[in-house]
Amino acid sequence: MYKEKMHEMSIALNVLDIASEQCRRADCAEIESIHVKIGKASGVFCDALLFAFDAAKQDSIAKNASLHIEEVPVTGLCSDCDKDFAVEEQYILSCPLCKGTSFTITGGRELDIIDIEAV
Ligand SMILES: [Zn+2]
Repeated sequence: MYKEKMHEMSIALNVLDIASEQCRRADCAEIESIHVKIGKASGVFCDALLFAFDAAKQDSIAKNASLHIEEVPVTGLCSDCDKDFAVEEQYILSCPLCKGTSFTITGGRELDIIDIEAV
């Protein structure tokens, strides 16, 4: 669990780095908000990331910025029943439709910055 917390802090710092760089390039003075997309299978805890972001943004050009997280469910394509499915859990053990185990994970590992608003 301690390792996970450090994981979120390094992601928060990384997001801040990228946002700050874009802000500077666009000649903006301050970052207002950052929108990220995080897959449920990415291993990132949203609460921990928000907490880490709030700590990391102090004394940066993003000190007043808010972080918006869009959670993406884990999705798969089953080759037993040939259907797409999405699950609420972090992992897929079997197809929720036919209980088959021949499936491909198609989504849920995202960790993308989708929008940065700066002024
Ligand atoms: Zn299936």
